[in-house]
Amino acid sequence: MKIVAKVSIEQVEVAGKRVLVRADLNVPLADGVVQDDTRIRGVLPTIKNLLERGACVILVSHLGRPKGKVVPELRLDPVAEHLSKLLGRPVRKLDQVVGEEVEKAVAESKAGEVLLLENVRFEPGEEKNDPELAARLARLADLFVNDAFGTAHRAHASTAGVAKHIPAVAGLLMIKEIEALTRCLEQPGRPLVAILGGAKVSDKIGVLRRFMQLADTLLVGGGMANTLLAAKGYDLGDSFYEAESLDLAKTLLEESGQSRCRLELPVDLLIAQELKPNASYQVVSPEAVPAGWKAVDIGPETVKEYSKAVAAAGMVVWNGPLGVFEVPPFHQGTEGVARAVAESRAYSVVGGGDVVAALEKLGLADKISFISTGGGATLEFWEGKELPGIAVLQEKTS
Ligand code: ADP
Ligand code: MG
Repeated sequence: MKIVAKVSIEQVEVAGKRVLVRADLNVPLADGVVQDDTRIRGVLPTIKNLLERGACVILVSHLGRPKGKVVPELRLDPVAEHLSKLLGRPVRKLDQVVGEEVEKAVAESKAGEVLLLENVRFEPGEEKNDPELAARLARLADLFVNDAFGTAHRAHASTAGVAKHIPAVAGLLMIKEIEALTRCLEQPGRPLVAILGGAKVSDKIGVLRRFMQLADTLLVGGGMANTLLAAKGYDLGDSFYEAESLDLAKTLLEESGQSRCRLELPVDLLIAQELKPNASYQVVSPEAVPAGWKAVDIGPETVKEYSKAVAAAGMVVWNGPLGVFEVPPFHQGTEGVARAVAESRAYSVVGGGDVVAALEKLGLADKISFISTGGGATLEFWEGKELPGIAVLQEKTS
């Protein structure tokens, strides 16, 4: 993908305009209360900027997976309430995504007001990128702003389709994401250390290959490391690994032999018989996993090795946890390496739902230079794929 600079809201006139902002307000709810408002806070700068400059802001977002039907528990009312508190002004929540009532409310709205449409995935046309839904959304506004990086890899009506009808520019969060992720690809600090973990090699093959070309060192952990170790011929007992990806893993190992990037695999593993909190475990080398045991985390020697590489890094990029961090004590490997990244002076970028959750749980998220709000979107961006929700945004001409 050729990475081009996008026009941001700051470069367009918004006074007196109705601006449809695609936000990612897909937050966890429990009993109608927002449990984590990181995503809501993420879009505040864009909303405030537009309001201060005299726009009327119409927000649109999905929440959960209602699959084209009205699911009452997935209405956006709790989000509107929370957002209103954060903004210190009312947020007018509408009970439909499009239609007469919405059009009426929008027609009544004035500069400085905030409206929130209903969960856009209640509409069956959203995920199909239905042109009719896109046109109806576009009719509500003069300008479209995409600030939902996390869904930018989806070509949906509210992320891409709508931009066929009205001018489309990037929100402030979107610009930050594009700049931070592009910096990793185009101006990497050296040495560039890429850390890749998580469950499956097959999910992340593109990113693995990309960083094998770009990075100086690639540190692998998690289930992904198990598959690569299995491809090297180790018998990993009952460990999770992808049998169907063994050939792919072998190809990757061959490719890494030809690349100047140093690929590091765990030199020791935490193994357990049961995956439950505080289960007893052992530390063994990869050739010594007994039958009935599974590798659930990287071992302390590996943490030391990986931390050393991180300490020497000029830039660190990280996706995927290095062990089953949800089940203590198998968070230790992820924690050890996370501490090294937190202490490092290198510019660090972390993306991926689970690894970000791990860093937040450890209280280390604020020690990372940039936390991407994307999971799949971040991976696709790093792979070099064109993201539909970004492709539709106006490009800077100069
Ligand atoms: P991210 O969301 O950061 O991209 P993934 O979704 O790819 O990460 O993977 C996260 C999952 O991988 C976690 O649920 C974690 O428990 C699992 N995982 C990590 N290491 C192992 C392992 N050794 N065996 C089984 N699962 C693992
Ligand atoms: Mg995940």
